[in-house]
Amino acid sequence: MTANGEVDQLLDFADNVIVSGKVCVLETTIAGSLPKPSWLAETHKLWPAWRAEGEALAAAKRDATILALKLQEDAGIDIVSDGEMSRQHFVHGFLENLDGIDFVNKVQMGIRNNRYEADCPAVTGPLRRRGSVHGAEARLARAHTRRRLKFTLPGPMTIVDTIADRHYGDRIAMAMAFADLLNEEARELAAIGVDVIQFDEPAFNVYLDEVADWGIAALHRAINGVASKTAVHICYGYGIQANIDWKAGLGTEWRQYERTFPALAASRIDQVSLECINSHVPVELLGLLAGKDVLVGAIDVATDRVETADEVAAAIERAMAHVPPERLFPCTNCGMAPLDRSVAYDKLKALAAGTALVRGRR
Ligand code: ZN
Repeated sequence: MTANGEVDQLLDFADNVIVSGKVCVLETTIAGSLPKPSWLAETHKLWPAWRAEGEALAAAKRDATILALKLQEDAGIDIVSDGEMSRQHFVHGFLENLDGIDFVNKVQMGIRNNRYEADCPAVTGPLRRRGSVHGAEARLARAHTRRRLKFTLPGPMTIVDTIADRHYGDRIAMAMAFADLLNEEARELAAIGVDVIQFDEPAFNVYLDEVADWGIAALHRAINGVASKTAVHICYGYGIQANIDWKAGLGTEWRQYERTFPALAASRIDQVSLECINSHVPVELLGLLAGKDVLVGAIDVATDRVETADEVAAAIERAMAHVPPERLFPCTNCGMAPLDRSVAYDKLKALAAGTALVRGRR
C-alpha cells in the first residue's frame, strides 16, 4: 500500500468514527439539492436563471459545488452531495445532454397530475445520451471530499411526468427509454466513485397504481448492474405554494406511502428517502420498509423556521420505533434549492445537532 493509500484509509476510518467514539450509526445525509449562491443563479426559485454563461458559468458551477461540499462537511453531514449546483432543475438537468429532446420550443403542461403548470421540453425523437451528463460534476465532487458522496438523478416516472411526448406515444415505453439512459449514467457515476446514486421520484406519491405496475420495473432497469448503493427519494414536493395547497387537501393522514412501500421493500433498491417531520405521514408506515435503509426526513424544507436539535432528535426517535438504528439515516424531507441559503445551512447544522443528541442517548 502506498503512503497516500494509508492516509486515505486513516481518514476514511476517522470519517466512520463519530464524535462520541462509537462506531457510526445514524449517519446524516441530505435529499439532494441546496440553494445556489446569488452569484451563480437567481435565488429562491425552482427554475432559476443562471448569472453567467459559457466558461464563466462553468467556473461558477465548479466553485459553487466545492463550496456546497465544504458547507455540508462543516455542518456535520456524513454523506454529502454536490448540492445540484450544476443543474437548473432536478429533472431538466439530466435532460440537457440527451439527443431527442427539444428544449427551445417549451410546452406548457400540467405536471404531477395537473397540480401545477410548468414549461417543459418535449421528446421529439429517439432518446440517446450524447455522452456523459454529470460525469465531470461527479469527478469534481469526488476529488473534493473524503466523505461518502451521494449523487441524484431524476427517476423515470418523474421524468416522463415533467416532459412532453411528441415521439413515443406511450408513457411506459418512454419511461423505459429514459431508464436505459439513466442506467448508462448511473454505471458511469458508480465507476467515478459515487457511493450512493439516488433517483428522485416525487411522482411515486401521485401515481400510486403505476408505481407497482411499472414504476419499480423502470427503477430496476435504471439500477441494473450499478455497483454503488441505490436510493429512491419519494416526497410531497418542494415547499412551493402549489405543493402546500395540495398537501392541505390530502387529509389528516397521508397514507400514500402505505401503497408503495411494500412494493419498494420487495424491490432491489437499497435505500428509501422519505418525508417525515411536520408531515401527516403516520410514522408506523416506515415499518413497511423492512430490510431497506430508510432516510428519514427530519428537516422541513417548506418553512424558513430552523428546527431545534430537540425537534430533530424527537423526529429521529419516533422513526427509531419502526426502523433499526443501523438502517436509519437522518435526512432532509426534500431538496433545499428554493430556500434561503443561510436558512438551509442552519437547518443542516440542526440536523447534525439533533442526530448527535440521539447518538449520545444510545
Ligand atoms: Zn423531494
